[in-house]
Amino acid sequence: MDLDAALAVLAEEGAPNYRADQIRQAISRDFITAWDEASTLPKALRTALEERAPVRELVLEEQQYSQDGTVKARFSTHDGFPAEAVLMRHGDRHAVCLSSQSGCALKCTFCATGTMGLGRSLTKGEIYEQLLWAARTARDRNARIRNVVMMGMGEPLQNLDNVLGFCRLANDPDGFGLGARSIAISTAGWLPGIEALIAEPMQVKLAVSLHAPDDVLRTELMPVNKRYPIAELMGMLERYREETRRRVYVEYLLLDQVNDRVEQADRLADLLYKHLPGGHHVNLIWYNPTGSGLNASAPERVERFQAVLDKRRIPYTLRRSKGSDIDAACGQLAVKGAAAAARAAKRAEREPA
Ligand code: SAH
Repeated sequence: MDLDAALAVLAEEGAPNYRADQIRQAISRDFITAWDEASTLPKALRTALEERAPVRELVLEEQQYSQDGTVKARFSTHDGFPAEAVLMRHGDRHAVCLSSQSGCALKCTFCATGTMGLGRSLTKGEIYEQLLWAARTARDRNARIRNVVMMGMGEPLQNLDNVLGFCRLANDPDGFGLGARSIAISTAGWLPGIEALIAEPMQVKLAVSLHAPDDVLRTELMPVNKRYPIAELMGMLERYREETRRRVYVEYLLLDQVNDRVEQADRLADLLYKHLPGGHHVNLIWYNPTGSGLNASAPERVERFQAVLDKRRIPYTLRRSKGSDIDAACGQLAVKGAAAAARAAKRAEREPA
């Protein structure tokens, strides 16, 4: 659902100004699923809107419910590309993890989405629609969405215009009204995107997936590191920190015997002190096995890693994933077998837009 497209239809139809408020209300407060439900609007306008700015651009293919309250939705775009979103419950707070792309081009070795390759980037309307799904699902539990993380499929900074367009839709005080600080964009370290965010006035949070404190290992895990090695990444984050004064969230996946040694924790601390003194927070992420051959760190190794961060006074949070029983946890999003993605990509090749 692209609210901006709906507002454009209003202008084309010469509708009075107050209709804009009714449209924002219907979409981002009442969470309608078809324009016909917007009873404040005249029938002709509803028809025009349904034709030119449909509420549902995505098809909801399947929903899966986890024991811990997590819900995963699998969508497909009108041209057949799969995308997934995950609603998570932390006590009475709900957060949603959204996809910015169908698949991903970056091919991090530990990540299930990477095995799909990139189908295509999602539009801001397709991203916003995932949020509306989550808001509806939360409403059924008398809850509201408090946080949005762009940590589903895709590299958000390779689709920055749409991701920022989505953030504006979510942030609009007359619309969904989610505070910019409640939105986190997570990147594998796509430098041009981080640079663009430095100039962005919206106060969205930035999370960077580091996962290794040296270039040899990081390149092995995250091929994007070849193009933008750690020194360049940290240099850009320094600039980000200086110019925006915002904190940088650093994600560090704990992979057994790969990046969880005590020396590696120390090197991580060194990097953070050198480049982001006083401006970092580490999220240690529990690895969800994806068939990559990599494993989650053994609990005693996690403890030892944490002890180093404690000693070095690095602020961190240890995150355990939710929804692993339905393949909804971090990095597990990938349509099984990826056959749907491959079919859609073939079709797109045959029929260029
Ligand atoms: N491309 C972006 C956002 C999507 S991935 C990024 O790289 O940040 C969101 C987070 O999930 C990243 O930190 C990613 O490294 C992590 N992740 C990927 N696969 C995972 C897995 N199997 N288990 C736990 N976290 C994973």
